[in-house]
Amino acid sequence: MIKYKTPQEIEIMREAAQIVSRTLGLVAKHMKPGVTPKFLDQLAEDYIRSQNAIPGFLGLYGCPSTLLISVNEQVVHGLPTERPFEDGDIVSVDCGSVYKGYYGDHAYTFEVGEVKPEVKKLLEVTKECLYLGIAEAKAGNRIEDIGWAIQQHAEKHGYGVVRDLVGHGLGKELHEEPQVPNYGRRGRGKKIQNGLTIAIEPMINMGTEKVMTLDDKWTIVTADGKPSAHFEHDIAVVDGEPVILSTFDFIYEALGK
Ligand code: MG
Ligand code: MG
Repeated sequence: MIKYKTPQEIEIMREAAQIVSRTLGLVAKHMKPGVTPKFLDQLAEDYIRSQNAIPGFLGLYGCPSTLLISVNEQVVHGLPTERPFEDGDIVSVDCGSVYKGYYGDHAYTFEVGEVKPEVKKLLEVTKECLYLGIAEAKAGNRIEDIGWAIQQHAEKHGYGVVRDLVGHGLGKELHEEPQVPNYGRRGRGKKIQNGLTIAIEPMINMGTEKVMTLDDKWTIVTADGKPSAHFEHDIAVVDGEPVILSTFDFIYEALGK
């Protein structure tokens, strides 16, 4: 059952999302060759706790960390390690918070140093996919319209759209109904209505859409070892239109964009 939110609940969710946004802004400031995922994880945990919130992933489903940090061919769910980032890496950082009982959950894929042009293109197109998907999240449309828009754009560029992991409803639980796949058919799925709150999160691979799970039982990697990108925003449908509760502005500010 989909739990539609009141305007009051949506305002709390905006704050939860913004705590994540500010955390990712802090991460952006430190995203350099030589920095370790573990360092960023501690930084994020300390910051979230300083905001009267708690890390959203830590302890959930047995997750050992505040951030999920996925490098290069890692798609999502990478566990923070002591292995330093290197020049040319791309790094997806996914972060959750719980504020007044509601979840924020969003993600950005960062460039470390100088990244190859074809990898930059993957990041650019994946971010475009995110916003094309968000634009479809309006009252009267259907859930698969979101994935349809994402899939069309990604496949136009020859990229693979991950099938095994999807976006989701968001609220008092990190994963609520409905599932929000990044692929789909126009006009299919549940009708979108006011009060719907979802996380839209395209995971787009440079090569095959197929993925595998590493022996740590967490890290998802591309089956062909090619890079993968991931961007995520939290959305509420208000007055028939998608409202983005999270923001990349703190990241852009940190990166001087
Ligand atoms: Mg996430
Ligand atoms: Mg999510």
